[in-house]
Amino acid sequence: MGEETWSIDDILATLRTSGGRITATKRALVQALVETREHVTAEALTAAVQIHAPEASPSTIYRNLEELEQLGIVVHAHLGRAAAVYHLAGPVHGHLLCSRCGVTLEVPSTLFEPLVHAVRRDFDFDVDRHHLAISGVCGSCRDAELHS
Ligand SMILES: [Zn+2]
Ligand SMILES: [Zn+2]
Ligand SMILES: [Zn+2]
Repeated sequence: MGEETWSIDDILATLRTSGGRITATKRALVQALVETREHVTAEALTAAVQIHAPEASPSTIYRNLEELEQLGIVVHAHLGRAAAVYHLAGPVHGHLLCSRCGVTLEVPSTLFEPLVHAVRRDFDFDVDRHHLAISGVCGSCRDAELHS
């Protein structure tokens, strides 16, 4: 995911500045996002939050995630058919997803620059490099197939 720059204090300060109320649930959600340096589903975040704030409901978590996305603190992506995954906004990256074993690779977004420029030039369309994963077959699945 690259270097994260958000700390819990940064995020709480941004929330306060935007006029958002800092609830126990929101605080626990921010903590879970900062501590989890991975792509996590809202369901997994809810479970992590409920350790500190047992009253937190999934719908509250979704609302809070939405608020954090609107403030540019959190982004989500779709990796295949599984539920959307969330993480702190950081350097933009792309996702490659193996359709056989489900492994996800994070790749630098610069990889997509030629595509992004060509699509913009020829179709007047801006590609979102992070939101959807590019699906294909990873090296180990390809090798396993070759040797079976
Ligand atoms: Zn989406
Ligand atoms: Zn990602
Ligand atoms: Zn694979």
